[in-house]
Amino acid sequence: AAKTRQCGSLLYHAQLDAGSQESLSLLSELRRAVENNELRLYLQPKIDLQRGKVIGAEALVRWQHPVRGLVPPMQFIPFAEQTGFIRVLSAWVLAGSARFAREARDAGLTLRLSVNLSTRDLMDQELPAKIEAMLAPLEVAPGSLCLEITESAIMDDPERALSTLEHLHAMGFKLSIDDFGTGYSSLAYLKRLPVDELKIDKSFVMAMERDLDDARIVRSTIELAHNLGLSVVAEGLETAKAWAMLAQLGCDEGQGYFICKPMPQEQFVTWAKTWQPP
Ligand code: C2E
Ligand code: CA
Ligand code: CA
Ligand code: CA
Repeated sequence: AAKTRQCGSLLYHAQLDAGSQESLSLLSELRRAVENNELRLYLQPKIDLQRGKVIGAEALVRWQHPVRGLVPPMQFIPFAEQTGFIRVLSAWVLAGSARFAREARDAGLTLRLSVNLSTRDLMDQELPAKIEAMLAPLEVAPGSLCLEITESAIMDDPERALSTLEHLHAMGFKLSIDDFGTGYSSLAYLKRLPVDELKIDKSFVMAMERDLDDARIVRSTIELAHNLGLSVVAEGLETAKAWAMLAQLGCDEGQGYFICKPMPQEQFVTWAKTWQPP
């Protein structure tokens, strides 16, 4: 029990010295997780708010740990980012998402899958070629994937990130800025980045019904996105009122618990085929 508790807090803080015993054992556990098929792909629907239609899904990883149960991503993603293991994880999520896009299409559902990428992925010059090679045998077009990147991942090394993003964009992948408004990207970069979508951070969306400033930030972000020719997604859509406000403000897409929580990928096609806009 003591060991489990210790491991639990390790996972939670994940601020480990590289090379320490704890760090090495968590890293080997993560490697084993991939080998033993312990990772799970969860999907959360993305909805066209104007038409009330399911148009895609965000891929969110979980770890089905044999002892600890279902471990949320915040308990191992930061550690994976620090150690570089995130590249293995991202490859796993990308492959699973591409396979799912193909399966869904075969089931009569055209979806765009959004995948989260980290700084380390953007620093990998081979990434575009790796993703392309993964998609080719599945006959999935790059436009079926949207890559979500945070402002801070870009600002770690803007020139290098820009070069990877330009490459990915030229290949036809859609690019989205995640958690928009919480990082410190400058508008000058926003202008230069080849992005297609802004994703308004859930902190603003969840507060906009009671806080006028948050409502103004949401409204301004929608206007900014549209003025730059970008599509805009609101995450953290938790209520019918939020949906109505966002639709009225012209927000293109929404994602949140009001529509559905992330679900195991096996459940998604049935869910999407039976879902009715409220
Ligand atoms: P994120 O990319 O901002 O993903 C959205 C998070 O908000 C998800 O948490 C989702 O379950 C949650 N969420 C969605 N709708 C609502 C809502 O209406 N209300 C509230 N309160 N929350 C909502 P999750 O799945 O726990 O993921 C947390 C974070 O972990 C993600 O934040 C992302 O930064 C990271 N993450 C998850 N999967 C991956 C992955 O495959 N790769 C990488 N690099 N990061 C991942
Ligand atoms: Ca995301
Ligand atoms: Ca987000
Ligand atoms: Ca986030």
